[in-house]
Amino acid sequence: MAGETQSDCLFCKIVAGEVPATIVRESETTVAFRDINPQAPTHVLVIPKAHYPDAASLAEGAPEIAADVLREAGRVAADEKVDGIGYRVVFNTGSGAGQTVWHAHAHVLGGRGLNWPPG
Ligand code: C5P
Repeated sequence: MAGETQSDCLFCKIVAGEVPATIVRESETTVAFRDINPQAPTHVLVIPKAHYPDAASLAEGAPEIAADVLREAGRVAADEKVDGIGYRVVFNTGSGAGQTVWHAHAHVLGGRGLNWPPG
């Protein structure tokens, strides 16, 4: 159920400390960790501790936590010093858009030029 830990969810396991991750920030409601397959010099994922399958369901079910995720994304960018030149926050939503993990996550990408439109 949305908001509850899912035993078969990889990112719920990262939140629980059952799967290792390089955590760079943590708040009461969120965890931020380095992507294991980075697509830019800075590539950090910010996730809610509560399980929601994607960004839209998070925003519908817990808008205050969705705001926490966005705030933490900005703080990651500041910590990583990519906020000055510019960075990107991406929520892949649905398999056609490249979503592979069904626990909401913001990709924070920076440290190189980022093309538009994205691929
Ligand atoms: O948007 P998408 O669902 O494809 O993003 C999932 C991301 O989770 C991928 O970028 C993948 O590299 C990352 N990942 C990770 N640690 C894991 C498994 C996946 O950082 N243990």
